[in-house]
Parts: sequence; structure tokens; C-alpha cells
Amino acid sequence: MTKIQNITILGSTGTIGVNTLDVIARHPQRFRAYALTANSRIEPLLEQCRQFNPVYAVVLNADAAETLRGQLRREGLATEVLCGPDALELVSSLPEVDAVMAAIVGAAGLRPALAAARAGKRVLLANKETLVMSGRLFMDAVRTGGATLLPIDSEHNAIFQVMPANAPDGLEAAGVSKILLTASGGPFRKATMDELSQVTPAQALNHPNWVMGPKITIDSATLMNKGLEVIEAHWLFAATPSKIEVVIHPQSVIHSMVEYMDGSVLAQLGNPDMRTPIAYALGYPERISSGVGALDLFKIARLDFEAPDTVRFPCLRLAFEALQRGDTAPAILNAANEVAVQAFLADKIAFMDIPRLIEDTLCSVSVGEVLQLEDLIAVDQEARQVAMSWIEACV
Ligand code: NAD
Ligand code: MG
Repeated sequence: MTKIQNITILGSTGTIGVNTLDVIARHPQRFRAYALTANSRIEPLLEQCRQFNPVYAVVLNADAAETLRGQLRREGLATEVLCGPDALELVSSLPEVDAVMAAIVGAAGLRPALAAARAGKRVLLANKETLVMSGRLFMDAVRTGGATLLPIDSEHNAIFQVMPANAPDGLEAAGVSKILLTASGGPFRKATMDELSQVTPAQALNHPNWVMGPKITIDSATLMNKGLEVIEAHWLFAATPSKIEVVIHPQSVIHSMVEYMDGSVLAQLGNPDMRTPIAYALGYPERISSGVGALDLFKIARLDFEAPDTVRFPCLRLAFEALQRGDTAPAILNAANEVAVQAFLADKIAFMDIPRLIEDTLCSVSVGEVLQLEDLIAVDQEARQVAMSWIEACV
């Protein structure tokens, strides 16, 4: 019998975290939820501790940790409660942990994901911001740490599934001519410029195909999500920007494609449910059940494709430009975007201010080389300051 794998889930109370626990619960002989982590909401984490009885639970805030500790003790549960960012790094690198699901949202996920890579874990990477901010550092840590990196983002998971095994030697050696990254186009695919300027947070939070956390849902509406994914694909598959093409595919049935030099195009299809890429990465290289139903092609009946419009959706252009610029430019883009999305959700700026704010921040903060993690943390802070001043000047 194979040994049970101990899994740390960073961000277990989020959409990806909950879906991961759903798959784990289907395979108690294979996986154990070893450490679960959340930001500050302890209610859902407490419920997860009752159901999965993890060895560790981590919350960011010390008061919330104390409350959780007291409640677990009263219920006679043995889970040890830790708190703070260092504890996130600890549960990502403990020797008894086999795999780490990196599913914290935003830049906060970077340090623990890096810790997992350095510790040579099997890293299931949902937190795309890690690769956007620190692509080179993170990929180096994966190599030197001897980690196995498996993409969870549905597009990158799809590409990974249809990429040949010898792709690490470069796309050309593998006969790949292009990566076709599909995008649903979000809820405003057909909106005019005028309509886009009136978009409310409630409208933007209503994604047509996927159920996701608020930040990535707004990113999907601006197409910044696809922009971040272009940068993610660049690092994961060593693809130059010219080899990555975004294809709008409103049905979200094809999760991405790889075009080969002989004219073949390989695609991965499935219902839009994150449990498929999660189960693929958890079980890899074996296939395991995920709870996702079979694809009904007769019901889907048709698949449509269109080119993206970077005039109505400038975030996609900005991400390509930041990738071309390199160095700290993608980290500046990421920080400005995080601030912009929060401000939009708080009704402080308009939907079309999001790309404006990002572009202005990219123009104001000087781009430099990334030699170490501290360079990224410094530029992330600087870009956030600049973006916040922009918002203050605007309200
Ligand atoms: P979410 O908002 O639903 O969940 C985020 C999780 O991170 C929660 O558990 C929250 O408690 C935790 N968290 C938030 N801020 C934190 C902080 N400062 N410190 C520690 N923990 C913190 O987000 P999600 O939709 O599950 O997305 C998670 C990540 O996965 C994102 O990077 C997103 O881009 C990526 N992703 C998500 C999907 C999806 O379908 N939801 C698909 C592809 C990629
Ligand atoms: Mg995606």
C-alpha cells in the first residue's frame, strides 16, 4: 500500500482551498490534510478542523489564533494552532509534509510558496502572483530545492497535461510552436467602452462560468487575470511572450491548447470545475477521481473563439508590456493591480480606473533588477504607496 501523503493547504478557507479539501475527502487512503491555514476568519477554519483533524492550523492574527485555540480545546480537538507569516513558512517546509497547495491570494502567498519550493516539496501552485512577482527566483528555488512544481491554474494545468515530457529542454526542442491560452472573456466581453465605465463591483463579481474568490473574479473581468497568466505561462513553460497567444473562448470548455510545429493542436477539455486540475496535481502522475461530472459535448454543442480586444481591456496589454520589460516590472504591475482591485471593490475608483492606475504606477516606479527576495518586497511596497497616493488624489 502507498504511504498516505501529508498535505499543507495554504488558504484552506478560500475557493481553491475548499475544492482541495473536497478532493482530499474523496481519498482518505491517499491524502491527509496535515496543516490548514486562513487569514483571519476562524469560523470556516474551525469547521475544517472538526472535519479533517489536521495536525496544525495557522491563522495570521494572534487574537484570532487564541480564540481558535480555546474553541478547539473545549471541543477536545488536538490540532495545534500557530500564528503569523513565519508559521505559514514553517508548515510549508516541515519534513513530514509531502505536498503544499499554495492557494493564498495575492503577494501574501509568495513567502510560504517559496519556502515550500526551497524545502523540495511537491508544490501545487494556484497562487499565480508568486510567479508574476518572482518568476526567476521561484523557478530557481524549485530547481535548487529539488521541488516538483505542478500548476493548478486551469489553463496552465491544461498546458502541462498536453505538453510533451521533454519540454524542459525548451519549447522548440519539444516541437511546440505556440501556447494558446484560453480566456472566457469575463462578464463584459461584449460591453462598450461606455458600459465599461459604469460597471459596479456587484456586476464585476458575477463571473459567467467560474466560482472564484473576489480578487481573481475582478481580475477576470478586467482581463488582468489573463495578463497574469501570460506571465505565469512564460515562467512555467519557458515561453517567450511571442509564443503565447490569448484566445477568447466564452464557453470555458477548452482550458488551453498547445500548437506543434507539424500543425497539430492539442487541447485539454473539461467542465469548468477546479477540482479537475486539483485532482490531477494531487494524484500526478496517476489519475484520481475528482467529483467532477463527465463533459456533455452534445449539451455544449458549440465552441467559439475570438481575438482579445486590448483597447477595451488594457490590462492585458499592460501585462504583456511588463513581461517584455522584465526585472521588477511584473511585480510593480501586480502590486498596483492588488491595490486597484481593492479600491474598486470598496467603491473608491471606477472599473476603468483599474488599468489607468496600473499604467501610471508602472510609469512612476523605476524598474530594477531582482537579485533577492528583498528587492521584490521593496518594490512591492513602493508600488503600493504610489498606487494608494493615486487613489487619494482621485477621491
Ligand atoms: P479566495 O479569496 O477564495 O481565498 C484566499 C485564501 O487565502 C483564503 O483562505 C484566505 O483566508 C487566505 N488569505 C487571504 N489573504 C491572506 C493573507 N494576507 N495571509 C494569509 N492568508 C491569506 O481566493 P481563491 O479564489 O481561492 O484564489 C487563491 C489563489 O488561487 C489566487 O492566487 C488565485 O489567483 C488562484 N487561482 C484561483 C482560481 C479559482 O478558481 N478560484 C483559479 C486559478 C487560480
Ligand atoms: Mg486561470
